[in-house]
Amino acid sequence: MQNTLEFAQDSDQQDELSAYRQRFYLPKINGKDALYFTGNSLGLQPKSTREYVQQELDDWAKYGVEGHFEAKNPWVSYHKILSEPFARLVGANREEVVAMNGLSVNLHLMMVSFYQPTSKRTKIICEAKAFPSDQYMLESQVKFHGLKPDDTIIEVYPRDGEHTIREEDILSAIEEIGEELALVFWGGVNYYSGQVFDMAKITEKAHAQGAYVGFDLAHGVGNIELKLHDWNVDFACWCSYKYLNAGPGSISGVFVHQKHDNNSNLPRFAGWWGHDEERRFLMEKNFVPMQGAQGWQLSNAPVFAMAPCKASMDIFDEVGMSRLVSKSKRLTNYMEFVFNDISYRYDNCNLEIITPKEQKYRGCQLSVLCHGQGRSMFDFITKEGVIADWREPNVIRLAPVPLYNSFEDIYQLGQIIEKALS
Ligand SMILES: *Cc1c(COP(=O)(O)O)cnc(C)c1O
Repeated sequence: MQNTLEFAQDSDQQDELSAYRQRFYLPKINGKDALYFTGNSLGLQPKSTREYVQQELDDWAKYGVEGHFEAKNPWVSYHKILSEPFARLVGANREEVVAMNGLSVNLHLMMVSFYQPTSKRTKIICEAKAFPSDQYMLESQVKFHGLKPDDTIIEVYPRDGEHTIREEDILSAIEEIGEELALVFWGGVNYYSGQVFDMAKITEKAHAQGAYVGFDLAHGVGNIELKLHDWNVDFACWCSYKYLNAGPGSISGVFVHQKHDNNSNLPRFAGWWGHDEERRFLMEKNFVPMQGAQGWQLSNAPVFAMAPCKASMDIFDEVGMSRLVSKSKRLTNYMEFVFNDISYRYDNCNLEIITPKEQKYRGCQLSVLCHGQGRSMFDFITKEGVIADWREPNVIRLAPVPLYNSFEDIYQLGQIIEKALS
């Protein structure tokens, strides 16, 4: 690799996915396309999205309530359009996933089913400094069961002086809590450090202790290859507005492993959309859940949150995760190379990548710790047309997203950082 414009442009020319960039709107700064590295926070808008939303607006205007059955994509089953593409993204059967609600809402619904503390088994293991919504969710669930968060939630920390969590420390925490462990709840990809965890190993270890395992995949879905079914994960939830480009606050996805289909011990909060579909409109008493993840649905499909997601899923299906991940690795390696090259050449460069170096333990995000002048560096690159993400106290998160970022984006980012340093 070389930190040169020529190398970057050559790499873009050889990239079989380079044309996909044209299918997204890039925000402008000072009249120029921004260098957008925050697809891990809010993915860009596909140009096709408008047409998908327009279709539903038109059908609503044309049919009114009859659109539930007469619309081109009947609204009564609109959520089902997303099941197969979601299943492909997370490595599941179609029946194991459903699109519904927002992410934090779904986490609570899954906790109702999979966190049932008994007198002996109460404890939850999670990552230290989980995303705040996940922390609040866990705390409030624990309190809801009359337990104290401090005694019940065990956080696994990076060791002193380290920024990522060692796998061996997670596994030994699980073993140590043993029979008191009710649930391991973990972010499959940490939002702050970009660290990817071995979900298969964590799941196996937790099951050996008789605990359930759930993952928050907000930063995993559309970023790394997932095999939730084969990994034997109990449940998982994700959002669709980060790597999945479905627009602000768009629909969330849920996975519940098939093995729970006939588990009548699982309590759940119920709504009419989770009720036996054949009998849904008979409006009778006594809830009978649909088989699979669909049985956790409460409300009818929010079509205007789902239409942009459908637009995005059509793109993902066209490309496929394996091609995407292979480009993602090349892009991220290039970004790492450019940062290292700059660090080597500038004595005053205090940038340290805290995301793991090993491919297996990272996706496309690199988190850069800025010792000393972090905020001023961030403000400078922002003024120069970079959209990145600042996390207190001193980390810049950058995600070169394989669907629309280019090698040249990365080269140009390097040039701006060099300008800042000199
Ligand atoms: C983005 C993100 C959320 C956001 O939750 P919403 O309910 O969609 O607002 C939650 N958890 C994690 C780990 C996230 O990265």
